[in-house]
Amino acid sequence: MRAHVDQDTCISCGLCVSSVPDVFQLNGDGKAEAIAEGPDDAVQEAIDTCPVSAIREA
Ligand code: SF4
Repeated sequence: MRAHVDQDTCISCGLCVSSVPDVFQLNGDGKAEAIAEGPDDAVQEAIDTCPVSAIREA
């Protein structure tokens, strides 16, 4: 699954980056962005656990 992070909503908590580092990285603005596709279950968990619901399926 490919994910998209809403840059205006992300609060830079780092949770998704810690959980799925192959998919999410913090960019130069300190916001998470999806850099690759990831396993459906891992990406779905990131979607479900983001505290501000900034991640969605792309
Ligand atoms: S879990 Fe949500 S708020 Fe936290 S860094 Fe990832 S996208 Fe941003």
